[in-house]
Amino acid sequence: MQHYDMWIDGKWHAPESKATFPSLDPYTGKDWATFAKGDFRDADAAVRSADRAFREGDWPAMTATQRGRVLYRLADMLEAHAEELADLEVADNGKLKAEMLVQMKYLPEWFRYYGGMCDKIEGRVTPIDKPGIFHQVVYEPYGVVVAIAPWNSPLLLATWKVAPALAAGNTVVVKPSEFSSASTLRFAEICHEAGLPPGVLNVVTGYGEEVGGALVEHPLTSRVAFTGSDVGGRAVALTAIKDFKPVSLELGGKSANIVFEDANLDDAVKGVISGIFAATGQTCMAGSRLLVHDSIHDEFVEKLLVFMQDAKLGDPRNAETNIAPVSTKPQFDKVLSFFEIAKAEGAKCVMGGTRSTRPGCEKGLFIEPTIYVGIDNRMRIAREEVFGPVLSVIRFGNDDEAVEIANDSPYGLAAGVWTRDLERSITLPRRIRAGTVWVNAYRVVSYLAPFGGFKQSGIGRENGAAAIYEYLEEKSIFINPKPGIANPFVLS
Ligand code: NAD
Repeated sequence: MQHYDMWIDGKWHAPESKATFPSLDPYTGKDWATFAKGDFRDADAAVRSADRAFREGDWPAMTATQRGRVLYRLADMLEAHAEELADLEVADNGKLKAEMLVQMKYLPEWFRYYGGMCDKIEGRVTPIDKPGIFHQVVYEPYGVVVAIAPWNSPLLLATWKVAPALAAGNTVVVKPSEFSSASTLRFAEICHEAGLPPGVLNVVTGYGEEVGGALVEHPLTSRVAFTGSDVGGRAVALTAIKDFKPVSLELGGKSANIVFEDANLDDAVKGVISGIFAATGQTCMAGSRLLVHDSIHDEFVEKLLVFMQDAKLGDPRNAETNIAPVSTKPQFDKVLSFFEIAKAEGAKCVMGGTRSTRPGCEKGLFIEPTIYVGIDNRMRIAREEVFGPVLSVIRFGNDDEAVEIANDSPYGLAAGVWTRDLERSITLPRRIRAGTVWVNAYRVVSYLAPFGGFKQSGIGRENGAAAIYEYLEEKSIFINPKPGIANPFVLS
């Protein structure tokens, strides 16, 4: 079995506690690696290293152009290591190799995009309304950024924070999920090989509250970026705000995929499936509520059932497999508990609703893809995030009702609209209270497109040009070249 220490100050770092914890391969059902169990002492070492690197190291001494070149080099090296990183993620979280490979091959674009922005962060001189005064606005990095990531797309979601934070000139401490630390540790080593100076990127492993909490609370941490559950996000935000540290949160969702009667139903079936059964439903943007127009409800559900008949559950490393196991034992138990909740609420199960006993699935954390019909949007199965392959089907009669149901959720991360009507495709997305709306598409993301949530799905946006300013402080500088204060007792 492999063992991984932490990565601090440009080298491997054994935990002060000497303790380790295992990571389970969700397909084989066996532990495949052990990781260092960090605590507040390791968090302190990592934050101090990042702080030193920010104040005294080679990173702030480089020009912005030189920093950009390091990120380009990193992008090229990540491209060369995509397969290896994907294998590590599959071992940790059991998701399809095909999916993790797509993600790993896409990662370099974030480093190229934000690397290219390093030397394009320009301040400005304002036409200030004070005679004789020269006023400029400049942008400065925060210092130490703590980035906390979940297990479902470990390195992609860490990258959404790390790439803009580094490009802005910060130093970073990453806390990967305790269920999926391997790829982030290897990533840190690759950053080092690409020329990132020691301390600029550190990785601390361990449990959320114990080591993640210590990182957020550390007095030298200046900015916090979190992706994960609303429970974890609330704890992180409350700790950060105690000392007024800015925090961005990418949290959960209960996104509506809305199929209108005029949609191309064969396309919509694929879109609905990609929304809820891809990644075994374990994506924040999962289209877990299917809203279908009354007039096509039965036909559409039948089409879904037919399509899903051929879906193969099994080995995530096999290119033929469509649905991988659930990634963690707590998540597996949570999905099963929702089956009980749905049953008690009177939901009608037309597919799945159990763990999977198909041949080849015996040892892993497999759940049968599940569809419930007859769902009322007030039911828990329609309101709470299951984070598994579980679809709740809700009927609607007209556009207003579809919008009302879609918006009647504590979350607001994403939504899908399936229609061929031009007017609908333009007006509907504007009426939905969600950070991302796809029309005749689902689960499309890009380094160029801002991503984040309305309502309880989070605070702040990742990706896109503006995201780099999430990691920069804006500063106003007033210069009076000819000193002289007219009246020191009043505002000038
Ligand atoms: P989680 O909240 O349990 O853990 C996320 C990370 O936070 C882990 O690294 C964990 O160790 C850490 N953590 C937990 N409690 C902490 C605390 N008190 N202090 C500091 N760190 C703490 O979430 P998860 O189960 O890993 O991920 C699944 C959740 O993530 C789902 O709700 C999903 O919707 C959400 N998610 C959101 C997005 C998005 O971009 N909006 C993307 C992927 C996943």
